[in-house]
Amino acid sequence: MKMTMDINKIRKDFPILEQKIYGKPLVYLDNAATTQKPVQVMRAMDEAMEQYNANIHRGAHFLSEKCTTVHEETRKYVADSINAKSSNEIVFTRGTTESVNLVANTFGQEFIEEGDEILVTKMEHHSNFVPWQMVCKQKNAAFKVVDIEDDGSLSLEKLKNAITKKTKLIAVTMVSNVLGTINPVKEIVNLAHQHNIPVFVDAAQAVQHMKIDVQELDCDFLAFSGHKLYGPTGAGVLYGKEKWLEKLPPYQGGGEMIERVTIEETTYNELPFKFEAGTPNYIGNIGLGAAMLYLENIGIDKIADHENEVYQYAIDQLSSIDGIRFIGEAEQKISVISFLIDGIHPYDLGTLIDKKGIAVRTGNHCAEPLMKRFDVTGTIRASIGLYNTKGDIDEFMAGMKKAVKILKAS
Ligand code: PMP
Repeated sequence: MKMTMDINKIRKDFPILEQKIYGKPLVYLDNAATTQKPVQVMRAMDEAMEQYNANIHRGAHFLSEKCTTVHEETRKYVADSINAKSSNEIVFTRGTTESVNLVANTFGQEFIEEGDEILVTKMEHHSNFVPWQMVCKQKNAAFKVVDIEDDGSLSLEKLKNAITKKTKLIAVTMVSNVLGTINPVKEIVNLAHQHNIPVFVDAAQAVQHMKIDVQELDCDFLAFSGHKLYGPTGAGVLYGKEKWLEKLPPYQGGGEMIERVTIEETTYNELPFKFEAGTPNYIGNIGLGAAMLYLENIGIDKIADHENEVYQYAIDQLSSIDGIRFIGEAEQKISVISFLIDGIHPYDLGTLIDKKGIAVRTGNHCAEPLMKRFDVTGTIRASIGLYNTKGDIDEFMAGMKKAVKILKAS
């Protein structure tokens, strides 16, 4: 059964949406880049700063204890939300990028040797591509990139054929930020585990659209960013199975990640603090927790149903444009639409519709190997979030039609 939500009530939670841009109501369709923030998130962060700000895990005083308690309750909440076995498996990071770098560096240091192989796919964001490539370069290991299909899906068969005895890790995105493709992560993990290969999942574009259950997926690592799930920037999560996190060396040295320090030697703190050197972004992490709670209170299934409805409407409307080419038409997709229009440069179109108050993304979307795969230099990307409406799509279409007319005439 389709679930509905009160979209007008939800839009009121996002003050930025009331703004006019160049005198036009804002139509924000750049949610895959970052999402807008509801007042509930801002309030949680304000409250922390107004009422109990103090550095965590340090002072014995009241505020420090209160702030530490809220921060660690947030960690527990994040762990429960994605069904991690314990909050020891939740490391707070700056975001997905830092989570990938943390594992690429430490896993690389400990487990990658000359001649080993790391597998990624051609649809990865640079964040889940470059750090693995760097490790392979450092270690003289092979960096293998599995091609994708013309419709933007990933073939399990191709992935399977790329696995060898030397494969040490598979890194894959759960949802593509360009194509919108939802990858069969559970099947990928199953396949990898048959060969004792751990899997790193980039869930930066997944958590805001679908329920994540790390135990069901059985993935070894999973990363996401607060700012893409209606939370703040600079706060993110790395989930890692405890058995892996225990085996990895620390990422950065500094305060809080230590147990004992002497001139001769340092011993390291227990999980997850071993990976959290320095003062963490505790205000941001509290905001990230508030954002996850906000999504839970609405219901992720309701959000997905709503986004899907707006997405289908947008696809129907866009299909009527002459010369439109969609990039990414896999069967399993979320509400991201990448496209090109014959004879029109994405940037020109993006710039013209911006003047109508419409925000979309143009460019390579930090996925150059994917652009090359489709023989394009960039696309226009409209990405739909929980507060978008069919009215937004009507505005977008009206703006597009005018812009296309102008650009085709020039
Ligand atoms: N992976 C994917 C699929 C993404 O879409 C993004 C952000 N565009 C990232 C990783 C990187 O996230 P962040 O910049 O928040 O670290």
